[in-house]
Amino acid sequence: MDHTLIWNNCLQNIRQSVDPQSFQTWFAPIRPVALESNELTIQVPHRLFYEWLEEHYIDVLKTSLNQALGTSGRLQYRINPNRQDNPQATQKKNGKSATRVPGHQPTPGNPFVIPGVKRPKIPSNLDPRYTFDNFIEGDCNSLARNAAKAVADNPGNTAFNPLVIHGNVGLGKTHLLQAVGNYISKKFPEKAVLYVSTDTFTNQLVSSIGSNTTNDLVNWYQNVDVLLVDDIQQLVKRKKTQDVFFNLFNVLRQNNKAVVMTCDRPIIELDIEERLRSRFQWGLSADLSMPALETRMAILNSKALNTEVEIPAEVAEFICFHIQHNIRQLEGVLNNLVLHQGVRGDESIDLKLAKEVLKNFVSEINKEVTPDVIQRTVADYYDLEVEKLASSTRRRHVVLARQISMFLVKEYTDQSLKAIGRMFGGRDHSTVLYSIKTVRDLMETNDEIKKALGELERKIRIGQGEGDHSL
Ligand code: ADP
Ligand code: MG
Repeated sequence: MDHTLIWNNCLQNIRQSVDPQSFQTWFAPIRPVALESNELTIQVPHRLFYEWLEEHYIDVLKTSLNQALGTSGRLQYRINPNRQDNPQATQKKNGKSATRVPGHQPTPGNPFVIPGVKRPKIPSNLDPRYTFDNFIEGDCNSLARNAAKAVADNPGNTAFNPLVIHGNVGLGKTHLLQAVGNYISKKFPEKAVLYVSTDTFTNQLVSSIGSNTTNDLVNWYQNVDVLLVDDIQQLVKRKKTQDVFFNLFNVLRQNNKAVVMTCDRPIIELDIEERLRSRFQWGLSADLSMPALETRMAILNSKALNTEVEIPAEVAEFICFHIQHNIRQLEGVLNNLVLHQGVRGDESIDLKLAKEVLKNFVSEINKEVTPDVIQRTVADYYDLEVEKLASSTRRRHVVLARQISMFLVKEYTDQSLKAIGRMFGGRDHSTVLYSIKTVRDLMETNDEIKKALGELERKIRIGQGEGDHSL
């Protein structure tokens, strides 16, 4: 049998065990290269690939290989030699090479040069504060972080071209994008790295149209080796910018220049020209989601190291529990704490101070939890009308939602059993008591209920149960 056949067999198997997006990202780019006495060699584009496969898909690979080759089957990886044989890598080995910067040659229309001001070097617009070293890794960001690092290690030569990092505001998109640039500038000083926000790019374009120098602008951008474009959601409704960017993108990609972009939503939801959207999907799209509590605490602690103050663990936990949607806010709280502490003198940072400061960030922090909020939150969670909770329906999931609501009202408010019975359609207090006990038992025995309760409590504590009301 030949290697292609065997690998295709494996793929059929793998396809059934992983989701389509992962399949496309991690398995489609693999090429089978040889089969020798039960050892299948597959070629992966990059080391990250192989590491990622080993870490996340080893079981799937093993199973499918066993099915295709029997239990004695073995797998050998090879990293694409063409990619490894990257001229920059050899250049680096030979020592320093002259720094080349786009527009260093007198290029007309360099958009980053202020007319009349002589600049020896084009700024890459990088902020040195953002590095991989100070980017805390967690499940929420490891794909994006590792893909960004792979691009930085081997710009223009990974399968991730373009790499698109998407995620909500304040989750570290700009940080990662800048980290790619800073890393490349250090490792490959001969490469021209440029960070630009989509807004800046649009403004440059608009002014170039005014002065009839759009060609110069585009030519200038084509000299860049690594283009880092922040916030491409700003392309929406900017038809001309999309056109120009489309052409620029094609040229850069044809020349194996690396393009990394960030976006506040997945590309598929981006309302831009179809041809541009499909190009953006050629590489890898990796999302950043909100870090779990532990990761948030690690981030807070790492940021606190740069300040003079010490944050007690319970304060850190309190802050991170409440700031759930935005890392920038975490930093905001920290800066405020530092400021307050400075004003107060040498008083240490305690929960009381943290609560004071947090009030400015999370409007609900001191708001009382009311039965009404609980009922709405639970109804919302179970996709029911609130009235159903007080109705006489005995449908199973309504009963469960009702019991959970009663339990939470008891936990979070000082309503009596009798009063709770009344607000749930005039039930008597023994029914309420029974409900509370049922939920307690379920929490011990049923993981799903336990998880639901955790989620509900989180929502209730934020205040309203309908998403982010902070800031
Ligand atoms: P975005 O561009 O997604 O809106 P930023 O990159 O500006 O977000 O991040 C907001 C702040 O949060 C920055 O100061 C950044 O350093 C910090 N931050 C976000 N994620 C992390 C992380 N994983 N580790 C360390 N700092 C982080
Ligand atoms: Mg940003």
